[in-house]
Amino acid sequence: MLKATFPHIGNSYIPIRTLLTELGLEPVIPPPISGRTVALGTKLAPEFACYPLKINLGNYIEAIEAGAELILMAGGVGPCRFGYYGEQQREVLREAGYSIDFLVLEAPKTHPWELWDKIKHYFPRHRPHDIINAIHLAWLKADALDRFDRLANQIRPLEQTFGATTNLQADFYRALDQVYLVHDIQSTLKNYLDALNGIHLKLGITITPLKILLLGEIYMVLEPKVNFEIERTLGEMGVTVERTIYFTEWVRDHLLFSIIHPNWNKNLKLMARPYLRNFVGGHGLETIALTVKAGVNRYHGVIELAPFTCMPEIIAMQVLPRVSRELEIPVLSIIIDEHSAEAGIDTRLEAFIDMLHYQSQKRNGGKPLEVISRY
Ligand code: SF4
Repeated sequence: MLKATFPHIGNSYIPIRTLLTELGLEPVIPPPISGRTVALGTKLAPEFACYPLKINLGNYIEAIEAGAELILMAGGVGPCRFGYYGEQQREVLREAGYSIDFLVLEAPKTHPWELWDKIKHYFPRHRPHDIINAIHLAWLKADALDRFDRLANQIRPLEQTFGATTNLQADFYRALDQVYLVHDIQSTLKNYLDALNGIHLKLGITITPLKILLLGEIYMVLEPKVNFEIERTLGEMGVTVERTIYFTEWVRDHLLFSIIHPNWNKNLKLMARPYLRNFVGGHGLETIALTVKAGVNRYHGVIELAPFTCMPEIIAMQVLPRVSRELEIPVLSIIIDEHSAEAGIDTRLEAFIDMLHYQSQKRNGGKPLEVISRY
């Protein structure tokens, strides 16, 4: 059986493992991203390449060491550099002496027949029934993960026992990764959602957690090993985090709606229009539109995550100070690269959260809010 690998992005390895297995490949999941992954990727990639490209390269090399024979990578079009990722990574690996098949899967709206030819060539089980079944199972898992993570971010700031939500989340990921039947996926989700809802919450005080919108470049937002587990860190500081990107929503909007409904992001464009009138690639336009939304809906703050040299987020960063000033919404932009360290990120988060507490108190007529804080 052909051993296939793919780069990490958050917990998507769980549904992708299912997808590849059902289509007749043997998935080789790269080891979790570590300092070694970053060092391997950084050594091979051009210095000013986007940070996710470097991490992907590290993933590939570690997966090749584990026996991978084929690399699967998503393709893309648009003004940012993602469209070149596949070709650039293929070349970098070849120059470094790695001889491995590299398959770039473009979104179906660009070259549907080319995509179908590649699927037929590389995937042993490619009858329509097999493909539908594989996508169905993978989708159920991806949806289960997103539903669990959303609720986990609501519960974590209120949990009585420190770490209870995070531990349960890790158990849920492991359990979901091991089931392959529709019924088992559904019952695993139900059992773990019940357990999540059963976590003891802080009682006896009126709790008003700060509410923060987390947005920015997709890889930085979804990959906890690269964003230093920002959702967990903020949750444990007593902050409710609302993440703007979820895997299932991204697939639905960018791969499905964009074909059926070319104007699917009309509302986002309208929200961003006073500040940014053009699509700038990646999630740049979303960053502006959703910061506007956060300001209008009186969130306490916005955190933007961007990889070093990310063009769309750099453009957004130039516009955000005006949005922040006019809508009175505090924004913290964090740029991450191979030199970033957890202590530095944590310090900035703590300072930002302190400032938000102070500002909330001021808005509350000087009365201190009863907030939870563990730092
Ligand atoms: S969105 Fe940013 S980081 Fe991602 S490929 Fe485009 S430029 Fe690079």
